[in-house]
Amino acid sequence: MNYFCYFTHSVFPSKAGSPLSLSCDSPSSVSPTYFGPLRGPPTSGTLSSPIAPSSGSQIIYNHYGQGDAQNGPATTAGYMQRPPVSQPYMSTTSQPVNQLPAHQQYGPPATTSSQQLTNQMSGLQITGPPTTTGPLPPGQGFGPPASHPSSSGNFHATTMAYAPYSTANVPQSQFSTANASHPPYSNANASHIPHSNLSQGPPPSGMPQTPAATMGSQGISSTKTAFSGPPPQLYSVPPSGSHSTPPASTGIPPSAFPSSVGSQRPSVMQGPPLPGQTLSGPQVSQPNHVPPSSSQMGISGMSPGPPISGLQGPPAVAPTQQGFPPQQNGSFGQVRGPQPNYSGPYPATPNYGSPVAPPPAPPPQKRLDPDSIPSPQLNEMSSQPKSRHRIDPDAIPSPIQVIEDDRANRSTEPFSTGVRGQVPPLVTTNFVVKDQGNASPRFMRCTAYNMPCTSDMAKQSQVPLAAVIKPLAVLPPEEMPPYILDHGESGPVRCNRCKAYMCPFMQFIEGGRRFQCSFCCCVTEVPPHYFQHLDHTGKRVDYYERPELSMGSYEFLATVDYCKNNKLPEPPAFIFMIDVSYNAVKSGLVNLLCEELKTLLDYLPREGSMEETAIRVGFVTYNKVLHFYNVKSTLAQPQMMVVSDVADMFVPLLDGFLVNVNESRTVINSLLEQIPEMFADTRETETVFGPVIQAGMEALKAAECAGKLFIFHSSLPIAEAPGKLKNRDDRKLINTDKEKTLFQPQCNFYSNLAKECVTQGCCVDLFLFPNQYIDVATLGYIPYHTGGSVYKYTYFQVPADGERFLNDLRRDVQKIVGFDSVMRVRTSTGFRATDFFGTFYMSNTTDVELAGLDCDKTITVEFKHDDKLSEDTGAFIQCALLYTSCSGQRRLRIHNLSLNCCTQLADLYRNCETDTLINFLAKFAFRGVLNNATKTVRDTLISQCAQILACYRKNCASPSSAGQLILPECMKLLPVYLNCLLKSDVLQPGADTTTDDRAYLRQLVTSMDVAETNVFFYPRLVPVHKMDVDSDTVPGAIRDSEERLSKGGMYLLENGLNLFLWIGVNVQQSLLQSIFNLPSFNQIDPNMSALPLLDNPWSKKLRDVIDAFRAQRPRYMKLLIIKQEDKLELLFKHFLVEDKHVNGGASYVDFLCHMHKEIRQLLS
Ligand SMILES: [Zn+2]
Repeated sequence: MNYFCYFTHSVFPSKAGSPLSLSCDSPSSVSPTYFGPLRGPPTSGTLSSPIAPSSGSQIIYNHYGQGDAQNGPATTAGYMQRPPVSQPYMSTTSQPVNQLPAHQQYGPPATTSSQQLTNQMSGLQITGPPTTTGPLPPGQGFGPPASHPSSSGNFHATTMAYAPYSTANVPQSQFSTANASHPPYSNANASHIPHSNLSQGPPPSGMPQTPAATMGSQGISSTKTAFSGPPPQLYSVPPSGSHSTPPASTGIPPSAFPSSVGSQRPSVMQGPPLPGQTLSGPQVSQPNHVPPSSSQMGISGMSPGPPISGLQGPPAVAPTQQGFPPQQNGSFGQVRGPQPNYSGPYPATPNYGSPVAPPPAPPPQKRLDPDSIPSPQLNEMSSQPKSRHRIDPDAIPSPIQVIEDDRANRSTEPFSTGVRGQVPPLVTTNFVVKDQGNASPRFMRCTAYNMPCTSDMAKQSQVPLAAVIKPLAVLPPEEMPPYILDHGESGPVRCNRCKAYMCPFMQFIEGGRRFQCSFCCCVTEVPPHYFQHLDHTGKRVDYYERPELSMGSYEFLATVDYCKNNKLPEPPAFIFMIDVSYNAVKSGLVNLLCEELKTLLDYLPREGSMEETAIRVGFVTYNKVLHFYNVKSTLAQPQMMVVSDVADMFVPLLDGFLVNVNESRTVINSLLEQIPEMFADTRETETVFGPVIQAGMEALKAAECAGKLFIFHSSLPIAEAPGKLKNRDDRKLINTDKEKTLFQPQCNFYSNLAKECVTQGCCVDLFLFPNQYIDVATLGYIPYHTGGSVYKYTYFQVPADGERFLNDLRRDVQKIVGFDSVMRVRTSTGFRATDFFGTFYMSNTTDVELAGLDCDKTITVEFKHDDKLSEDTGAFIQCALLYTSCSGQRRLRIHNLSLNCCTQLADLYRNCETDTLINFLAKFAFRGVLNNATKTVRDTLISQCAQILACYRKNCASPSSAGQLILPECMKLLPVYLNCLLKSDVLQPGADTTTDDRAYLRQLVTSMDVAETNVFFYPRLVPVHKMDVDSDTVPGAIRDSEERLSKGGMYLLENGLNLFLWIGVNVQQSLLQSIFNLPSFNQIDPNMSALPLLDNPWSKKLRDVIDAFRAQRPRYMKLLIIKQEDKLELLFKHFLVEDKHVNGGASYVDFLCHMHKEIRQLLS
C-alpha cells in the first residue's frame, strides 16, 4: 500500500561483480556475452530443441519442396486447374479484381497526411536533461492527473465489440440465451433417450484381439431432433464481415493539447536518492496533483518528496487515506482521495486545470532538479539500509497516460500505410487502417520502424529487431480484407532469383519490360501477359488497378505447382475425439459436449457465398481403447468400431468416417445422443493419448486431406500405450537448474509424432479438463508444433465452467483457419530473418511450417544484419503464406512492409514500439526457459533492457547528471512492462502456480499478438462506478495498483484470460442494488458465476461492458466476483502488477530504481 522506494537489493540479481561498460567503440563488450545464454541456433524453435540438440542436419521431411522454390515454382509451368470454389471471393465488393470499383481506394497516399506525419516526425527532438522548468501545457507528461476529461481514454463501448474472430457477430448473451432454452445439459439426454439404450454400456475394452476392427452393435435409435433444426442466425459467419460493430474512431474527442506536445520528448527521471541521504527536495504539498512543469517531462518521479521517517503510514503531506490515495490518470473524480459515497459517474470536477484553460502556475519544481538528489551508489546503499525515500508513483511513467495520449492523438485520423517506416498507433488505440502500399499493423508490427544501418549500431543499442506477424488476422468491417487475385495458369509474377512476389516495392524499368527486385536487386523480364506501359513517373498505368502493385496485403490463387504432389487439395476435415473415461463423463463434459456439437456442426467455417461448409467431420471416442464411428448417411444408425491394439494404431474404416454434416445429420445426431449414454456408467479411469493423435492423423492421411483434431482430454495418459506418461511434477525443481525440464516434454514420442502431423497438415487443438497434474508441457507439445491451441479447464464442472468451455469451443470451431501452410519471410539485402517464435514447426532455417494457422495466431520473426542497410532505399520485408483455405482453395497471402533505415541511434529510439518489444521479449524469454534456469532468463532480460536504455542515455540524451534516469519517449514504459513480464507466472511462479499452469501460459503467450500480450502483462482495470450509463463509452482505465482502488468503488479487471469484478467494502449501496439487487455488501455471493439480469441502466451497462471485453479477446473470460478483504482477493491482487508481489516480484517503483542502478553501472 505504501509507495516508498527501498533499495531491496535482494530482490534483484546483482551484477556488481561485472559492471559492463557501454561504449560506442566497443560494442562487443555489451552484446553477445549477455544475450548469449538464451540464444539458440536459428532453428532452436523447432521440434528438436528441447529434447534433442538441434543439429544443422535435421531430418528433412520434404513438404512439397524446400529451398527457394518453397512457395512455388520458379517458372510458370503446369496446367492449372481450379477447384470449383475458385472464384475470387470479393467479400466486400462483387466486382472482379481487375475492375476495382473505386480506384481512389488504391490511390497514392494523401500528400497531406504523409506530409503531416513527416513533419511530426521531423519535429521529434531528443532533449537533454531538464534544464528548464517552464510549465508545460496541461496534460503533458504522465505525472499529474489528466486534465482533459473529454479525452481521457473514454472510448465507445461499441468499439469493444469488435472482435478478431467470426463469432463477434454473436453477442454472447444472445447465444447463451439460446442455449438456455435447451434442457439442462446434465439431463438432456436422459430425458430423451429410451432407457433401453443404457443397457448398451460401453464396449468391452478387450473385445477385439487383433488389429482388426470390431463392429460394435450399436443399433441405437433415437428420434431426438431438438437440436437438429435449422440453426438460428446466431452463428452466421460471413467471411469478411466478421466484426459486429465498427470501432467508433470518433469516440474520442480531439485532444485538447497541441499535437506537437505529445509523446516526443524523452522522459527524464530523477535518480533515486540514496538510502540514508537526506532528501533535499522541498515538500510538495500535493504530490499527486502538481501539474508538470518541466519540459523535460515530468518524470518528476523519483521525486524526493518529503523526508519520511520510516515506513509507517503515508507521508504526512499526502492527501491519502488508508491506502486509497487519489485516483488519477483517467479518473476524473476522487482527486482528493477516496470518496466512499460516490454519487455519479463524474462526481467531481477536476480541480487541477481543464482542457482549455492552462493550469495555474505550477509550484517550483525543485524536485525535478537532478542535482538536488544525490544518486545512489551501490556501496552506500548497502551500508545504509535503513534509509528510505518516497517516490511519487504518479510521477513515474504511467501506462494509462501513454495509452490515453495515443488515443487522443491518433484515433481520429485513419492510419494510411503509404509512408515508409511510420510507427502505427498503439494497439490500445482504435484506429482505421488504409492500405496504401504497406501491410496493416493488424497483420504486421515491428519493434523498430527505423532499422539501424549497421549491425554495429544494432548491437550497440541491443534493441531487438523483430516483426510480429498475424498473417490471417481478421480485420474490422470497415477495412477491406485482402483482395484475392487470380493470375491464371501462370500464377503470380515473381523475381527470378529470390522468388519474391510482385509487390509495390518492385521497380519497373525499360518502359515496363523488366522489373528490378527490391529484395535482391535482380532484374526480371515482365511476362508478356503482365506487360503494361509506364506513365511519366515510371509507374505502371495499371498501378491502381492491381492490388499487388499498390497495396501492402493481398492474396493470389495458387496453381497446382504450389500444391502437395502437384495436386489441388481436398477440403480439410475436422475430427472430434472425445475422452469418455470416468472423469470426463462424471464432470458432465461428455454430455455437454455432445449436446453442443449437434448445434455447432452447423457452423463450421465457410467462405464467401458457400451455402454449406466444405469441411467434413468424423468422430472418435476413447479411454484405454479407441472407438471409431461410421456415420455414413445411408446408415440408419451409427456403427462403432473399436480398436484396442493401441500400440499399432490404424483407422478401421475409411468410407463413412469423414462425412458431410448435412448429408449425415441424422446419423450424427443419433451418435451424439448415444455417446453420453453408452459411457454413462463407465468405470474406466485410464486413458491413452498418443494413439488418439495417431489415429486422427492416419485418418486424414487416408482421406488425403489436411484438417484439425479437436481432442477433449481429462487425465494424464497412464494406460499402456505409445506416449504413455508418468507424473513427473516436482515443485522442488523450481529455482534450480533443472527447472527447465518442467517445460520440456517427458519423452520423444510426441516430437516424432508432431513431425508426422505437420507433414500431413494435421493441426491439433487440445481441450484439457484435468483434476490434477496432466503434464501440459508434454500433451501440449503437438498442438504447439502444429499451429494448434491448448485450452485448460482445471476441476471442470459444468455449472462453473460450462459456459467458458462452450464459448471457447464455438470460437475455436468457427474461426477462420488455413491448413498445410508454409510461411516464408523475405527481406531486402543487408538483413534477414534469423529466428522465429510461435506455434509451428521448422525443418530448415527459413520455412515456418504450420499444419494449421488460424486468425488469432501470430509468428514473431527476429531479424539480424548480414550487411549494411541504406538510408535511401530503406528495408523491405515480404511475408508470404501459402495455405489451404477452409474451402480447400490453395492460396498465397502476401504482406509487404517497408521500413526506414538510420545512421543515428536517436532515430532508432524515436521510432520504436514498446508493446511489440515486450511481445518479442516475452516470447524470447518464454522459449529461453526451455533451456535455461528462469533466473538466468530474468537476468538476461534485465540486462538487455538496461543496455537498451543505457545506450540511449549515452548516445542520444544530452549530457546530464548521472542522478537522472532518462528514458526514450517511445520506451518510457519499458521498465514497467518489463517488470510485469519478469513477475509473470512463467518466470517467477507463486506458491499456488502449478507446473501445468506455467507450461500452459508459456505456450499461450508464444502465439499472442501485441494487443494480447499488452493486456496480459498489464491488465486493464476499469472503475465501474464511474460508468456513464447514458453514453456508450466506458471510463478510462486506471493503473494496476491497490493504491488506486477506492473502498467505495467497484472495478473490472481483465487480462485476456481472467475477468474480475472487485467490490470495495464501502461500495455505494445504490450501485450494489443496481448491479446485484442486494442491499448490502455482506450479502454478495462471491461464488456467483454471472451477474443477475436486472432491468436498470447500471446493470445493463456493466453487462454490456463485460460482453464487449469478452468479444475483444480470443478466449472467453469467466467472471469472478472479488469482495474486498475476502480471501479470494489475494488472487485478484496478483494482477495489480504495479504493486509488490507476494511472490517477491518487485513493485514498479522498486524496479525502476533497480533499472536505474543497472543503467548507471553500465554507464560508469
Ligand atoms: Zn529478388
